[in-house]
Amino acid sequence: MPELPEVESVVRALAPSLTGRSIKYVEVLNRSTVAGSPQKPDCLAGRRIERVLRRGKYIVFHFDGHYAMAVHLRMTGWLGVKSRERVAAENDKFVRMVFGLDGEAVPLPPRGGGSGRGGRTAQGHPPPQPSPSRGEGDANSTGRGTQGKFSMPGAASQELLLFRDIRKFGRVWCGRREEIIGLKSINKLGPEPLVITADAFAKRLRAKRGRLKSLLLNQEFLAGLGNIYADEALFAARLHPLAHAHRVPPASAARLHAAIQRILGKAISAGGSSIDDYLHPDGTRGWFQRELKAYGREGEPCTRCKAPIKRLVVGQRGTWFCPKCQKKR
Ligand SMILES: [Zn+2]
Repeated sequence: MPELPEVESVVRALAPSLTGRSIKYVEVLNRSTVAGSPQKPDCLAGRRIERVLRRGKYIVFHFDGHYAMAVHLRMTGWLGVKSRERVAAENDKFVRMVFGLDGEAVPLPPRGGGSGRGGRTAQGHPPPQPSPSRGEGDANSTGRGTQGKFSMPGAASQELLLFRDIRKFGRVWCGRREEIIGLKSINKLGPEPLVITADAFAKRLRAKRGRLKSLLLNQEFLAGLGNIYADEALFAARLHPLAHAHRVPPASAARLHAAIQRILGKAISAGGSSIDDYLHPDGTRGWFQRELKAYGREGEPCTRCKAPIKRLVVGQRGTWFCPKCQKKR
């Protein structure tokens, strides 16, 4: 299940190949994917993508004319760009939505590091150049002869944005920007963990009577953490998952805030180096290798004190912690 760092990595990888391009048409292949969308996805046809950003675990597209789209990947959702030829050849039954893309992405300033990945399109081609190679020659080989369930109108559209989702829990919402931002689940999101200050975080903790683990999972308290990074942050901060939030001493609150930011930041960097595996799904695709110290390590020795990691169930979620380093004062 993707959490903030994975969603952020997807956004950073997709933005360069999508920003500035228009949606030519939208095809919905599974109705439940757009259940709850304020408007029919067709409302995005002809609109230009101005920005791709992340809010909590949502991927949010801003379109011209004050339109927007929000995507939640949930369990198995995947968002990426592929050439029309490849989509037709693969005839992938797990594709739930298709967006025909028009035009060329607006080059974004390079994002440091100089690895050259910034401008890559999702299928690993070099960034689209204003060269004649995207012209008629390609169109001839792909035009009307293409069969399959993807109708793909318009020979000029060479690339498709796909929403693929094996288990169909993912959701896509389309509509006017205020409708999308006003969706209950988005409107109620708490602050971004990478943005909130230590003081504001401590203040929020003090105001809550809940247990730390449940609170960190609560998207209205903090947006973007899930089961994995919540456990890892509590382990790093040496705080018991069942500790009462309002009783956490100020020094511990500061430690938890720092741990959350450090762990998320590290995971985003790791995601940046392995996002290609995500964008080139080959059937075995999973999320990035995560360096986990608590999550899923029941019985294994704690990396700090060697005590065996324990597993608890908190609010129906498996929770891993070190009983020796994470004492419940
Ligand atoms: Zn320990």
